[in-house]
Amino acid sequence: MYRHDLAEMELPELEHALEAMGYPRFHARQLFQWVHKRGVTDFGDMTDLGRDLRSNLAGALRISTPELVHGDTSTDGTAKFLLRLEDGHLIESVFIPDTPSNTFCLSTQVGCAMRCGFCLTGKMGIIRNLTAGEIVGQVRVLTRELGMLQSRFNIVLMGMGEPLHNYDAVMKALRILNDEHGLAVNPRRVTLSTVGVLPALERLATEPLMPNLAISLHATTEDQRDALVPINRKYGLKELLEACRRFPVKRRERITFEYVMLKDVNDTDEDARRLVRLLNGIRAKVNLLPLNEAAGIPYERPSDTRVNRFAKILAERGVTVSVRKSRGRDIRAACGQLITESTRQPSPGQRLAALLPIS
Ligand code: SAH
Repeated sequence: MYRHDLAEMELPELEHALEAMGYPRFHARQLFQWVHKRGVTDFGDMTDLGRDLRSNLAGALRISTPELVHGDTSTDGTAKFLLRLEDGHLIESVFIPDTPSNTFCLSTQVGCAMRCGFCLTGKMGIIRNLTAGEIVGQVRVLTRELGMLQSRFNIVLMGMGEPLHNYDAVMKALRILNDEHGLAVNPRRVTLSTVGVLPALERLATEPLMPNLAISLHATTEDQRDALVPINRKYGLKELLEACRRFPVKRRERITFEYVMLKDVNDTDEDARRLVRLLNGIRAKVNLLPLNEAAGIPYERPSDTRVNRFAKILAERGVTVSVRKSRGRDIRAACGQLITESTRQPSPGQRLAALLPIS
């Protein structure tokens, strides 16, 4: 018999399911707490529920959690987790300690459709969207593996995938994570990073539960961005920045603009000055990401001197700027390096090998 996935349900949906089974709705809260607050996914272990409720639940519902296939820890403490979904697809999640908070970097899709020219995940293409349950499930696995169920953490939606290309599931995941009967993750602790899928960005601007926003800008002219971030051909730089100007930024908050630095492509003094002008009037901060080089990526990382000079130009003109220290590069957990299926179609047994650099 088909069993609905409890991991996928917001609290009101679970209440509804319980009522439909003839049970009082308050049991839904208990169940929700077991799964999301305590990470317990075996109905048999939910000791405050009656025996017959537990066995009826087990017959009617399942609780799916991504399966940990492999974990890797970097010398800098960053940990990368390879997870297998119910249908066999693989995704990655990353734990980044002390930056200054502990941060979970989550995937929102298997692969990515955006095909940015410098990103390895984009090379996979899009395989499918993650469900809300699979997005939240990554948190369940990471808190369990890291012993962090009681600890505070931030979430960045900066793993595989484009979150605004999987809007409904991402927002549903944020609601499940935010629920006071679960982990009660405040949306202020969540950052959604996007290339700027404009209709979805406009929709995000109206959400009651609004995460912090990071925009993957990466360029200062339309032509340059068309070449690096193909979706710019549809939703251009100009419209994107206008949408950012209108975006309801919370008090004391700012929009982060991520800027991958590519040697001799977008790293000149002139780019820096143009960037300052583009951000004029936006409550912005800039995060420079010197390229993480990889085989198959046709760009180079600029020198530290170049990066610092670029940062200095921004800072001198009053733009808050930071340079992202790349974490987890030795385990290929750094920005843009998450890739789980080789373009060479490996057999299932070879999947893990596909994590090694693609040649
Ligand atoms: N699709 C979303 C979420 C991914 S966030 C987005 O693009 O915003 C991952 C960040 O790492 C993005 O800013 C992305 O542009 C950046 N990135 C991708 N490849 C990179 C690379 N090789 N080196 C450094 N940063 C990279």
